Amino acid sequence: GAGGEPSKECPILVAVRVRPRNEKELASGDPPCVRVLSRSHLCISKNEGVNQYLNSQRGRVNDYEFDVVFDETATQAEVYQRSTQPRVASVLDGYSLTVFAYGATGSGKTHSMFVLTLPLLLYCGTAQVYNDRLYDLLSPGDGAPLRIREDARRGVTEVAGLTRRRVSSAAEALECISEGNHNRRVGSTAHNSVSSRSHAILQVHVRSDGVQECSAVMSLVDLAGSERAGAAAKDRQRLTEASHINQSLLALGNCINALSGEGDAQCQAKYRDSKLTHLLKGSLEGHCSVVMIVAVAPCSGTYEDSHNALKYANRAKEI
Ligand code: ADP
Ligand code: MG
Repeated sequence: GAGGEPSKECPILVAVRVRPRNEKELASGDPPCVRVLSRSHLCISKNEGVNQYLNSQRGRVNDYEFDVVFDETATQAEVYQRSTQPRVASVLDGYSLTVFAYGATGSGKTHSMFVLTLPLLLYCGTAQVYNDRLYDLLSPGDGAPLRIREDARRGVTEVAGLTRRRVSSAAEALECISEGNHNRRVGSTAHNSVSSRSHAILQVHVRSDGVQECSAVMSLVDLAGSERAGAAAKDRQRLTEASHINQSLLALGNCINALSGEGDAQCQAKYRDSKLTHLLKGSLEGHCSVVMIVAVAPCSGTYEDSHNALKYANRAKEI
């Protein structure tokens, strides 16, 4: 069930959050293209706005059902409570928890990632993947990319040499996230990119002191914008970025898809297809729990991006 304990049958929870229209969108008169019909159900329509569509159609071909659906009135606390909170405790039982924010640029991914309060004693480190290379976001240093280290014995994959900071409160963890987000923007000038073209990953390593060596990783992943590069992306750099983003989001979809498959399907997950999935390998194998928050903007102008995001989410769910 929605927000339930992670189990072998359902390691993945897919939540969709529709953000409110901003002032500009309201002023433009662009009708909404998405309507939330219940706590687990929404529909999307291309033309005339979704209200007219609902009045005119009997068969709602563009209906979608997810574990959890949030409309534009949902608060940060509500999003946290119905998506991630029920799974946080499982981290202490050794389940790695990975939370993804997926969606087009401007749909509310970063906003939604901020919902996470971290009630534990933790170490935080944050990195970004840009053009399939990994960069430290807490100590950008000389900007040299980092490597991934795989520890088969402990079943973890981690970034070698990533700066880790001990945090002892939710406020300190949020500071860590803010600093990472800030460096993501600053770094983006150096790499001639914008934050929407990189994946930001905050990893929290949870160690239960004493007793036994039990470590689980909580990863918060603010994914690169999922929008299509489009015909406008003429220059080489944009095309390179777009192809790396497509590749890594595809690889991620495949790995998530294979998650709940039996034996063979699991083995077919090709984590090494991208840095993003390689880094998360240790968290997506074995005892794991995944929350995917799909952010969508509500306006007709971004219908294609929103609909594509829902299709991606739907595929992640159909496992
Ligand atoms: P993304 O990370 O997907 O590019 P952002 O999270 O930066 O998008 O959101 C884009 C803008 O919309 C920001 O100004 C953000 O504050 C605002 N926003 C996003 N989601 C919400 C929401 N649920 N309620 C209010 N404002 C939101
Ligand atoms: Mg963002």
